[in-house]
Amino acid sequence: MNLILLGPPGGGKGTQAKRLMDKFGMVQLSTGDMLRAAVASGSEVGLKAKAVMEAGQLVTDEIVIGIIDQRLDNPDTKNGVIFDGFPRTVAQAQALDKILDAKGRKLDRVVEVRVPDQLLIDRVTGRYTCAKCGAGYHDTNQKPKKDGVCDSCGGTEFLRRADDNAETVTKRLSAYHEQTAPLLPYYEGKGLLKVIDGAQDIAKVTEELIALLGK
Ligand code: ADP
Ligand code: AMP
Repeated sequence: MNLILLGPPGGGKGTQAKRLMDKFGMVQLSTGDMLRAAVASGSEVGLKAKAVMEAGQLVTDEIVIGIIDQRLDNPDTKNGVIFDGFPRTVAQAQALDKILDAKGRKLDRVVEVRVPDQLLIDRVTGRYTCAKCGAGYHDTNQKPKKDGVCDSCGGTEFLRRADDNAETVTKRLSAYHEQTAPLLPYYEGKGLLKVIDGAQDIAKVTEELIALLGK
């Protein structure tokens, strides 16, 4: 199954993608993670993307479409992927349709993880991840069982994203409403869209997602 998790920054897409991956053996494709890796490696793509990401704007369609096209050639994607943070513009969605078509694959579901804006600033500014394994946490909503120790790998170092500050989040939310929200009618028109209430607690959202994907 190939699935898009569509939703605002901090909506819980990455959190849910990891939980679905564990359950269904699908691969999470997060363009945000891929771009951050490119920035960290100092590659040409990373150099182009760095300032744009820090400003809370979208990098060019050309860059992210290229990354996804290449990534889908990796055999680990054959059992199904969860697109997380891609597509983010109608041009990216149209390109994805063509890419999947050319590779003889198709999109099965698009799920909007709907969360009101007022919850998102807290979600994003409280977010951090394990430096060793990437497991996601939140200052109040999702703390490790033992303070300062990652539940998944026992790591004791954690990272916060440079763009996870209140000022940049506001810009990222504007980009979401202006450039990404038009994807909702795009996928609704194709009969692929389902909506889930992402304001519920993490386990409940997973439960509803699993029920919805089983249908
Ligand atoms: P996205 O990938 O959509 O940007 P994340 O999955 O990284 O969002 O979630 C943002 C933050 O909110 C994380 O710190 C995560 O622990 C927390 N979070 C995710 N889902 C929920 C939820 N349903 N309720 C409360 N907090 C959540
Ligand atoms: P995310 O990790 O999904 O929150 O993305 C972090 C940042 O990476 C965004 O604010 C954008 O600058 C950039 N980015 C990630 N995915 C895309 C995309 N599909 N299109 C354009 N920019 C993206």
